[in-house]
Amino acid sequence: AIAGTGWVAYGIYESRHPADQADPDSNKKTLVILGTGWGSVSLLKKLDTENYNVVIISPRNYFLFTPLLPSCTTGTIEHRSIMEPVRNFLRHKKAAVTFYEADATKIDYEKKIVYINDGSDVKGATSSNEVPFDMLVVGVGAENATFGIPGVREHACFLKEVNDAQQIRKRIMDCCETSTFKDQSPEEIKRLLHMVVVGGGPTGVEFAGELQDFFSNDLKKWIPDIKENFHVTLVEALPNVLPMFSKQLIEYTEKTFKEETITIRTKTTVKNVTDKYIEAESTGPDGKKVLEKIPYGLLVWATGNALRPVVKDLMSQIPAQKDSRRGLVVNEYLVVKGTENIWAVGDCAIANYAPTAQVAAQEGAFLARLFNQMARTEEIEMELKHLSHVQEVAPSKEKRDEVFAQIKDLQRRLRRVKQMGPFEYSHQGSLAYIGSEKAVADISWLTGNFATGGTLTYFFWRSAYLSMCFSTRNRILVIVDWVKAKMFGRDVSR
Ligand code: NAD
Repeated sequence: AIAGTGWVAYGIYESRHPADQADPDSNKKTLVILGTGWGSVSLLKKLDTENYNVVIISPRNYFLFTPLLPSCTTGTIEHRSIMEPVRNFLRHKKAAVTFYEADATKIDYEKKIVYINDGSDVKGATSSNEVPFDMLVVGVGAENATFGIPGVREHACFLKEVNDAQQIRKRIMDCCETSTFKDQSPEEIKRLLHMVVVGGGPTGVEFAGELQDFFSNDLKKWIPDIKENFHVTLVEALPNVLPMFSKQLIEYTEKTFKEETITIRTKTTVKNVTDKYIEAESTGPDGKKVLEKIPYGLLVWATGNALRPVVKDLMSQIPAQKDSRRGLVVNEYLVVKGTENIWAVGDCAIANYAPTAQVAAQEGAFLARLFNQMARTEEIEMELKHLSHVQEVAPSKEKRDEVFAQIKDLQRRLRRVKQMGPFEYSHQGSLAYIGSEKAVADISWLTGNFATGGTLTYFFWRSAYLSMCFSTRNRILVIVDWVKAKMFGRDVSR
């Protein structure tokens, strides 16, 4: 009863219920969308689902607001606050959408079939199947790059999914508690409390900042024994961190990290990982290379993206994609080169932009407009066909003139609809949290770019991320988490 009332005005409930939706229509073209990340979800948000038989396939039945994932590793934000169930927003679409929680294991380009596997723990359930498509959008993202470095997959934590953040949170507490175990040796205490982050991109920098905050604001108070030995080190192969930011902000970040007592080890490349230490090669000012062992308790690996096997396999089936190494090469309308009915968005596509959430979201919104327009074009063309037949068999000159005017009007509308330009990315800027309530921002305005860093930028960072959250529900939950962390401190239970 509540769903149909004034709650709508507050954005808390919407009036449409799955029972009120038009059923999926298998007579329409089947549009299969892979993934529920930034690209696919922003496409779904704006897509008129009544034009197609829409099927979504993703191993995650929720959208994850990834920019706030580093905050989940320390409990500043609870992970459910940044998750939005797919079912929640699909029920607001005019026509029903089919959702399968499954991995797309293979795409057969020739046969136009996606093979899926649900990997469910429920015994006896059907777990693999095939989904045919007329049109396909690949928005499966990327996996963590390890560059084949031995030991990374076995011993390091990543920071891409909710499970990763939960694992890191447990590991931090495990290291702290184990270091205070009765008669723990001084070397073990030092090792356990050494938190190493590999990769000085925004993911590594934001996580290092959050972790140091957790220590300075909470851990130090609740577990004073770890005070002397807790230490965060950021390891980066290049000469500086945050290469995509301006020089002035890189320097500001490095200075802030120094004040926060986070060690940055630049020009240091990790070559091997064991369960207790990493082996890294660092280049000194004289150009000499030194190999050293760095013991760690927690190792977080944030060295960027790599292709998923399902994308690699699809590329191997399309001759025009054979030379590409980094992902599916797309044209200016995001069509996968060498195909006519496959589009790609987000981190699995290469369209001359960095693999960011901002790019993926804009690409998804562009595809929604394109698909809505394609459906509208088809509709008008069918109407035109019908009218020209009516005109041919019209009994009088008046009737023929009337139909002729209608045809002219439709032709004008068709020209307008068809006038959609190619995808153009509009860069709004880059933002990153760097700890101790400071953030850095490279912002693009009409008048040019400007760089800013500090506490004011931190409030800007907060409000920008809040406004980008998926729903009002998410926004409220995030604000409550921030208030909770400020008032009571972060939760240090495992
Ligand atoms: P990244 O690709 O931006 O950075 C990875 C870093 O790891 C690189 O600087 C690389 O030199 C370093 N590295 C690689 N191998 C190494 C090794 N063996 N030893 C030491 N260092 C090594 O990765 P990311 O931070 O995960 O970001 C991925 C993408 O997502 C980027 O395009 C980024 O811009 C975007 N992103 C943006 C934000 C933001 O804007 N706030 C946040 C997260 C991610």
